[in-house]
Amino acid sequence: MITEELREIIGCGDCSEHKCDGAYCLKNTIDSLKVRLVDLEDENMRLREWKESAQAVEREWDAQAIAKMLGAQPGQSCRAVIAEKVPQLIAKLAGAKSENARLRHHVSAALDAVRSGLYELALGALDAALTRQEEK
Ligand SMILES: [Zn+2]
Repeated sequence: MITEELREIIGCGDCSEHKCDGAYCLKNTIDSLKVRLVDLEDENMRLREWKESAQAVEREWDAQAIAKMLGAQPGQSCRAVIAEKVPQLIAKLAGAKSENARLRHHVSAALDAVRSGLYELALGALDAALTRQEEK
């Protein structure tokens, strides 16, 4: 039995010309709800898949442990700390590599000079290595 309350819910009888006994509008309402349900189930499935893939990506690394290694303080965003610190570390590493190459060059020159008995030259090379390092 279709009550007045149900007619109102399904939008039946809004028009004065409406001769519907309610069954037609009820069927239409149920049909559109079925379509909507299928859409929502599809969306739910897509969201579940997305969530699982996002969780799988998260399991690939421990962002919190890495942020902690980089000096993150409690309450700081792990990702923000990683995004800030990693480029700084890469730049620092590049600087350390070039400094290492420079020192090797001077020390090697100093060793060659010592082997040849040219101690003044060796001291000069060591001095050059240390002086330029201090300037940095
Ligand atoms: Zn109706």
